[in-house]
Amino acid sequence: MKGMRLVHSILIAAFALTCLADTPKGPDSSVATVHGKLIQRPDQKPALETADHKLIVVEGDGSTEHVLHDKRLTGVELEVKGHFTAPDHFTADPFHTRALHVLKDGKRLAVTYWCDVCSIRTYEPGPCWCCQRETALDLRESGKE
Ligand SMILES: [Zn+2]
Repeated sequence: MKGMRLVHSILIAAFALTCLADTPKGPDSSVATVHGKLIQRPDQKPALETADHKLIVVEGDGSTEHVLHDKRLTGVELEVKGHFTAPDHFTADPFHTRALHVLKDGKRLAVTYWCDVCSIRTYEPGPCWCCQRETALDLRESGKE
């Protein structure tokens, strides 16, 4: 009997640990990271499709959402830092903390935009603030930003 009870306790402990690792709860939970394929849907918030095919809706500040809506990023693997507000809703950290990265060929790349004409780098899609030409998406390795 005693042995059974011990096994039971170990199982409960193991289960509790698994829960802690997988399901951050509420806005108070510490910083989390989600990985997944960026899904852009008409009239809906962008979402990440995780490796186990769950859709997690990603929200953020204006600049973050601007990047998440960039058509050139459709289908890329994204890593987003922030926190879960619900099991399928994630809020990205403020844009200036560089919460978004693209994962490509085993590398972690920063999302930047480059104007060839003016050699100006920006971090949001849109026209160059200097010459008004559309900037090019330029994914850069972290540390070389
Ligand atoms: Zn320019």
